Amino acid sequence: KRDDVSAEHLEQAVADLDVKNGTFKDFADLPLSEPTKSGLKAAHFSAMTDIQAKAIPLALKGADILGAAKTGSGKTLSFLVPVLENLYRAQLVGQDAGLGAMIISPTRELAIQIFEVLRKIGGKGHLFAAGLVIGGKSLKDEANALERMNILVCTPGRILQHLSQTATFSVDNLKMLVLDEADRILDIGFQSALDAIIEYLPPDRQTLLFSATQTKKVSELARLSLKEPEYIAVHEAA
Ligand code: ADP
Ligand code: MG
Repeated sequence: KRDDVSAEHLEQAVADLDVKNGTFKDFADLPLSEPTKSGLKAAHFSAMTDIQAKAIPLALKGADILGAAKTGSGKTLSFLVPVLENLYRAQLVGQDAGLGAMIISPTRELAIQIFEVLRKIGGKGHLFAAGLVIGGKSLKDEANALERMNILVCTPGRILQHLSQTATFSVDNLKMLVLDEADRILDIGFQSALDAIIEYLPPDRQTLLFSATQTKKVSELARLSLKEPEYIAVHEAA
């Protein structure tokens, strides 16, 4: 494959990344693929926010993450960059590769926003097939498209419906699960849907959980869905 060399080269660079002692200020300080670098550049993202600078290096190395930072702190790129990169390095791309990442969002509106950022930074150079699963289309139309997807952005109720009813929807290759705005997912009452979704997913995946607030319910969810997570909390400057 065309990308074999660069994926292998990046794998080594990520392995060499010293997350304990390194200082990472700009996206350019990280070993990222050319398509991600140019997507970020085209969107005029250069300096990382605090949560990005802390979460992305660890997530690139495969760690599970529990990240808390207030609204507006840049959590979306904190998970989208690792999703693109970790799937790229694993060459989990194209129709036959299967689903590599599932991103769960509390509402359709937020899912659409995430999808737009994904398109903005990953849409030009990357070859992933990405889709939104938030209802509004027939279950059958969605089911047909699901088979080809590498990255899905979805709401809990709808994706659970497919996991339980769409026989052709396989999550066996899933490498990454992202739970965005986990506090809101739980506030809306999706706790049992999330538990059921997680039951369907391979246990040896990487999980990134982001939340604006650290609630008891969030730590309970973290306890059930994350493995030895890195805790990253970004506080407002006084
Ligand atoms: P959160 O999910 O934490 O509420 P978002 O990911 O939605 O935050 O980002 C909030 C805003 O900050 C968005 O408008 C986004 O484009 C912008 N943003 C995110 N990261 C950066 C960055 N590294 N540099 C400049 N702007 C950024
Ligand atoms: Mg957000």
